[in-house]
Amino acid sequence: MSNEDYRQRSLAHVWHPCTQMQDHEWLPLIPVKSAEGVWLEDFENKRYLDAISSWWTNIFGHRHPYIVNALKAQLDELDHVLLAGFTHAPAVELAERLLRLAPPGLSRCFYADNGSAAVEVALKMSFHYWRNQGQTQKTRFIALENSYHGETLGALAMGGPSMYRDTYAPLLLQPIHVPSPDCYVRGAGESWEDYTRRQFWHLDQALQRHAHETCAVIIEPLVQCAGGMRMYHPLYLTLLREACDRYGVHLIADEIAVGFGRTGRLFACDWAPPPSHDRDAQPGITPDFMCLSKGITGGTLPLAVTLTREHIYEAFYAEHKAQKAFLHSHSYTGNPLACRAALATLDLFEETRVLATNRVLTQLMWSRTEELRQHPKVAEVRQQGMILAIEMAKNARSREPYPAAERRGLRVYQYALEQGVLLRPLGNVIYFMPPYVITPKEVERMCQVATEGIRLATRD
Ligand SMILES: *Cc1c(COP(=O)(O)O)cnc(C)c1O
Repeated sequence: MSNEDYRQRSLAHVWHPCTQMQDHEWLPLIPVKSAEGVWLEDFENKRYLDAISSWWTNIFGHRHPYIVNALKAQLDELDHVLLAGFTHAPAVELAERLLRLAPPGLSRCFYADNGSAAVEVALKMSFHYWRNQGQTQKTRFIALENSYHGETLGALAMGGPSMYRDTYAPLLLQPIHVPSPDCYVRGAGESWEDYTRRQFWHLDQALQRHAHETCAVIIEPLVQCAGGMRMYHPLYLTLLREACDRYGVHLIADEIAVGFGRTGRLFACDWAPPPSHDRDAQPGITPDFMCLSKGITGGTLPLAVTLTREHIYEAFYAEHKAQKAFLHSHSYTGNPLACRAALATLDLFEETRVLATNRVLTQLMWSRTEELRQHPKVAEVRQQGMILAIEMAKNARSREPYPAAERRGLRVYQYALEQGVLLRPLGNVIYFMPPYVITPKEVERMCQVATEGIRLATRD
């Protein structure tokens, strides 16, 4: 079987996600036969370095032998069972272990099978909590502009205005959207911290005006990933936690992309500095809901979880006739294989000290993009842990962007594929989000190909 064979059969019947299918009249679809570590391989032995961890899921490389063995053993014992009325070892052990690692104060785990569903769970649970408390006027949510929380209608509605959201606008909830702390657009000479603090004012205003009707604020901590890897200072998290407490509104942290070490700590919420009135406190905030998915299974199987606090759980705990139970389920909720893969992934975090070794890779990515920081068509190179983003611009100084219709990022994508590197730019933003097992040599190759690709894509 050749690449061309699968290409044609796929285009005959598979409707691919996030794709204008007509593009594939000239843009070849890439059939993947196998994968190992950071490498994908097609049917003609061409290899591609997976610099974006297959949509940010694959943190320990493809087919990591430890995860593969754990899955094989699990398959010999239990494949799947419903989680209503039944339970199983992987779901129990994973809940225990996640809660030990998560910010203090989270004590309950609700499983789902993809990130969007974990967001839906958090939104419904927050609304339902207030309803069970008799606060039926709380029906709205506050979200940030430029944010992304998934594709199902509830999660999609939370996303900032964009093509994804606007197309389906007539179907969607109407959250209160607040300007983002995205530091790319800060004033000249302004520090990340100052800009972040200044932008927080908008959120505080929204809470002042809408807290009475608001269930929760939902954010992506530190990095708005799908929104172009836009980043902000962790002080925002500290200020937001305090404000949510003050106004009686839940805080939902969507760590689906940034969780599991991606930002340099296990969870992005762990970066929040202590509040100014308590400088000696431990860093980190505890959200009321924390949504996890993507990296949770090391990129092997779909799984998601929404963590929450005991008092929220208790608001649903009552006699059957009180009709307070949470109403949500998916057929594959808490699938044993996926939970087993997640447990193996947590083992790897413990055994490999990966957060420490990632610091070396993080520095290497930074030093190997030095040339790009001087490039006349690069407005910014920014980094948070194992995410490094390069913003191409028509005018780097004024930050005037390239028109989207020019599809400059796509040129980089095509060039990199020729060179055997999978980058998948978000508009004018080229980024690296590699598996943590990438070697220094592979980092150099990835950076070199991106640098050449950007040079070619910005020539005219
Ligand atoms: C990917 C993503 C989601 C959606 O997860 P899916 O598994 O793709 O449904 C939600 N929030 C954030 C921040 C994400 O990056």
